[in-house]
Amino acid sequence: MYPILNEALRILQKYSLCCSCLGRAFAMLGRGLTNEERGRAIKLVLTMQLHRKLLEGNVETLELIKCIARSSFEPALLLLEKYGVSVETSKCFICSNIFEKLEDFVSRVLKAVKDIEFNTLLVGCKIPTDITIKEEKIREEFSLKFSENIKREINRRVGKALCSSLNKAYDPKAPDLTILLDLGENTIELIIKPLLIYGRYRKLVRGIPQSAGRGNVTSETKSRESIEEYICRPILNVTHGKRAILHASGREDVDVRVLGRGRPFVVEVKDPLVRSIDLSLVKKKVSEYSEGKVDVEGLRIVDQRKIISRIKALSQHLNKTYRAVVEFEEIVDEKMLEVLEKKFENVLVRQRTPTRVLYRRKDKVRNKMVYSLRARSLNENTIELIIKCQGGLYVKELITGDSGRTSPSIAEILGSQPKKIELDIIDIEEPFLIT
Ligand SMILES: [Zn+2]
Repeated sequence: MYPILNEALRILQKYSLCCSCLGRAFAMLGRGLTNEERGRAIKLVLTMQLHRKLLEGNVETLELIKCIARSSFEPALLLLEKYGVSVETSKCFICSNIFEKLEDFVSRVLKAVKDIEFNTLLVGCKIPTDITIKEEKIREEFSLKFSENIKREINRRVGKALCSSLNKAYDPKAPDLTILLDLGENTIELIIKPLLIYGRYRKLVRGIPQSAGRGNVTSETKSRESIEEYICRPILNVTHGKRAILHASGREDVDVRVLGRGRPFVVEVKDPLVRSIDLSLVKKKVSEYSEGKVDVEGLRIVDQRKIISRIKALSQHLNKTYRAVVEFEEIVDEKMLEVLEKKFENVLVRQRTPTRVLYRRKDKVRNKMVYSLRARSLNENTIELIIKCQGGLYVKELITGDSGRTSPSIAEILGSQPKKIELDIIDIEEPFLIT
């Protein structure tokens, strides 16, 4: 007639369980209840039933009341006291009263997150393995079909307490802050979601590398002069993050400027303490810090991590426009400029990996489009070229021919080798992004 009560009594006869652990054995039954309320309600009705039997003269029920009272269940303890019966209380067989620790964990977390800005959180926990083993043992022994596991309950209870104290939302998918409790080691670990900032950078002078080198840009030490240092340092200053990484859509040579709309990038800030930042201030600070050598445009916070791999992959596809000022050994015949323009109208260029990068790149053949080329003479042996091409084309080699490894090439058609090349990227197509 009352399977829940019968099952519960059988469990309690064998094991002393706290209200939460008993209630959790029936966690899927009833709505709007905590497991503690479930367990308490069951123990209460059992105590009343047994008290009734006792009053009807069934003295044996005293032993059963003891089974309920030994988990320090007050109503049963008081009843036994009335009958002058004493009972030795013990900790919960499953959790050793671990739930009593949760309040302390909550107040420690509240202190630890004081200086972190976040809107959403998630709680996870590690518990001593013997707890899981004991819980599993009871679930099997009594064929419990409506139970849940203790981790879920701890995560939910701590999560609820934190969300209501902090007025934050719970987000199991992509929380700003993940709080990990280790109930065995008695420690708390906080994992802050990286902050991602999308933008485009312009490099207004030659001679600056893109990367700050190994380790990227950290809050402790200044890195070498680089685009990464110039953009990431001001961002670290406002977010109070520990480390920042520049993920750019491709990379120009050190001696190449990036003008026009600039190159797309995402800065990833690790462990940011501040998430809502004034992006126009960041823009201003980048210009100031780099003394006008680097500037950024179109900054915005992005949410999805896959944007990083996307902008990297897109660098091979986004169309680019270059301006090259090329000085040749010999005088350039102006009539040849028209020939050049015709030759490089929608032409597929075959490129083997350039000699200068062979030491770090695999030797392979790339086929890349040149869509158009405009050429004009600056003086008798210097010309200016505007080249619109597919991403991933090595433009210096398009000009020099790289000893025949790139064909067709400008040197090949002019029959003259360039003495000096100055290259600017004047446009990179805007990538289509997800957010
Ligand atoms: Zn327990």
